[in-house]
Formats: sequence, structure tokens, C-alpha cells
Amino acid sequence: MDKTSSFSIHKGKPIRCKAALCRKAREALVMEEIQVDPPQAYEVRIKILCTSLCHTDVTFWKLDSGPLARFPRILGHESVGLVESVGEHVDGFKQGDVVLPVFHPNCEECKDCKSSKSNWCARYANDSISNTRRYGMASRFKDSTGEDIHHFLFVSSFSEYTVVDIAHLVKISPDIPVQKAALLSCGVSTGIGAAWKVANVEEGSTVAVFGLGAVGLAAAEGARLRGAAKIIGVDLNPDKFELGKKFGFTDFVNPTLCGEKKVSEVIKEMTGGGVDYSFECVGLPSILSEAFISTRTGSGKTVMLGMGKHAAPISLGSFDLLSGRTICGSLFGGLKSKLDIPVLVDHYLKKEINKAFELLEEGKTLRCIIWMDK
Ligand code: NAD
Ligand code: ZN
Repeated sequence: MDKTSSFSIHKGKPIRCKAALCRKAREALVMEEIQVDPPQAYEVRIKILCTSLCHTDVTFWKLDSGPLARFPRILGHESVGLVESVGEHVDGFKQGDVVLPVFHPNCEECKDCKSSKSNWCARYANDSISNTRRYGMASRFKDSTGEDIHHFLFVSSFSEYTVVDIAHLVKISPDIPVQKAALLSCGVSTGIGAAWKVANVEEGSTVAVFGLGAVGLAAAEGARLRGAAKIIGVDLNPDKFELGKKFGFTDFVNPTLCGEKKVSEVIKEMTGGGVDYSFECVGLPSILSEAFISTRTGSGKTVMLGMGKHAAPISLGSFDLLSGRTICGSLFGGLKSKLDIPVLVDHYLKKEINKAFELLEEGKTLRCIIWMDK
């Protein structure tokens, strides 16, 4: 059946559908019938086609204190969908369009969105607390008792339908298979963007990636495509090493097998003094310190991608920094979603970044694509 055939009857009205609700930190998600309100101005209601699980969902699922711990909540942010209906003042999206929701905003109008210096949308990115981008704590979801359900990262894709602000939405070519497109909504884009845009890895360079989940594997893929000569993968799970070879890793280090040596010492020995670039893709401050010290004195660059709990402080040796290393963090791999996602889709369609998709899609990492209507 045409996936859009029932859309017109719901336009402007609430939709009842199923969602996987997180009612309490660390408790199993429960399938419940919910109500999804129609989109307000600058919002779009989407039928989710596929979603996947990113470690950030797990981090927030475990979070039981602080302002970001809110329940009941619909988690999920890596997804792809079809536009069901649009609110007022929505240009550029219409019913039936294939769209990617993205947790990181891109209003296209603020000073930073107009500058090429960063992907930090000054207008919206500082607010990570609200449910809806322009309406504060107002929610578009209600449970069967009428209680509001919290949104997650302005996406909430573990639901058959969700409402997303246009600052978090990108229209993409319908030519890319949707199960692959979903991965561009967070993990694959974050890793590839980090290698291409944030680190700007160049041909012949040496790279270390800490954490071979979807983000780390995609960072390696990005480095491989830039012609990196050596890409070292660091993970506690040896199963990731076989998988990693397909993404361009040339060498592996298992921290549990380093004996007395620190991982950074092993990496320095393997590279004659340290890698040109390191990527932290786990979310632990101790790993970030190791990633930092694994880089070459004078010129090494570390990119932090992992997201730990409660924004924990990090510790770096001041002389290690003074001696010329740099470190920076990045959300969504430094990509501006509206500008860069269509470019990545294009690379996929030209078969240039396909490795980053194949195994992730098969669920051989934490990424496992969930079809919403199968
Ligand atoms: P994942 O769970 O799929 O992968 C994490 C990997 O790290 C696993 O292979 C695991 O075995 C490995 N690991 C765990 N502890 C380790 C240790 N002590 N030493 C070495 N390896 C270890 O995670 P993912 O979905 O790829 O996400 C990775 C991180 O990136 C998470 O912190 C997530 O929140 C974050 N993230 C950030 C952004 C961003 O915009 N910056 C986007 C997506 C995800
Ligand atoms: Zn902006």
C-alpha cells in the first residue's frame, strides 16, 4: 500500500499510533498507544520509516538525575521518515517528502549558521532542555491518560509518528535506500564529518580511533577516503577488529592486552612518536586523555566525539598542550545538516562511502536498523 495514502485524513488532527516509551531510567521500553498532535508553525509531522539505536540514546536512558533526565520520554534520534503534514510557515517540505531528522539544529539564518567557521547554530543549539524548538516545554505527545510525554533531542524517533522543527529537518533524495539514509541522521555523518571537516585528515597521515562503534567506524572510513596511511583502532571488544578492517583500519590495539604499557605508549611506538590525528568515540574522560597524548608532539590533533554522562570534566597535561597539540570537540561531526547531508547522500549514490553502511545496517555493531512497518 502507498505509505502516504492515509496521510490526508489526519491533516490538522491528532494521530494515534504506537511508540516505545521510556517511563523510568534503565527500565525496559514499553510499547504504548500514544497521541501525536498536529505540527504547529515551523514544524513537520513525520511517519518514521526506519530508526536505529545510537549510544547517546543509551546514555540518556541511563540518566536518572539532573535537568536532562526526564520521563516519560520517547527516545531515538537516528532515523528517516516521510512527511505526513506540515504546519504554517513551512517552506521546502511537503507531504510525501523523504526527510532526515537531525538532533543538531541548523536554522540557516543566525550568524553562525551563515558562517563557515562552525556548525554551532547560535540561535538554537544552546537549548538542549526544551521539548519543542520554538515552544519550550510544550510537547506534541500524550499517553493514553492524557499526560504529556517528553521529546528527546528534538527528534523522538522510537514512535510511528513524530513532530520535528524545520531547523532539525533535511529533505533528501528518495534514491538512497531508507535503511541506509537513517545512518546519516547521526552516527555515520558524525564520524565522516569529524574526519573530513573537523580534523581535515590528509593523505599519508596516521590516525587512531578510540571506540569502534558506528561513530568510530565512520571516522575511520572518512580517514581512509582521505588517504590516511595508518589507521589504528582501539577497542575492548576484539570482535570489532575483523569488522574494522573493512572500514579501513590497518592496526588494532586492545587496551586489556597492553600489559604495563598505556595505550598511548603503544601507539607512539607503532607510529614513531604519535599519530597525526586521534578521535575519541567512546565518551569517557580517561580515554580522551589517552587519545590526546597518543598524538604527535607539536602538531597532533584530537577530536572528541564521545558524549559522557553529566558533562564530566576532562584532564589534560598542560605541557602536552603547550607543546603544540590541539584538541577540539564536535557535535554532528562539524556538519551543517542542510548543507552537508545532501552531499553525503550524493557520495553514497556514487558508491563512495558505502562501506560505512553495509555492516552497520546488518546490526553487527550496536547499530541495528528497525523498520517501523515490518
Ligand atoms: P557504540 O556503543 O556503538 O560504540 C562504542 C565502542 O566503544 C564499542 O565498540 C565499545 O566496545 C568501545 N569501548 C567501550 N569502552 C571502551 C574502552 N574503555 N576502551 C576502548 N573502547 C571502548 O557507540 P556509538 O553509537 O558509536 O557512539 C560513540 C560515542 O559517540 C558515544 O559516546 C555517543 O554518545 C557519542 N556520539 C556523539 C555524537 C556527536 O555528535 N559528537 C554523535 C553520535 C554519538
Ligand atoms: Zn542557526
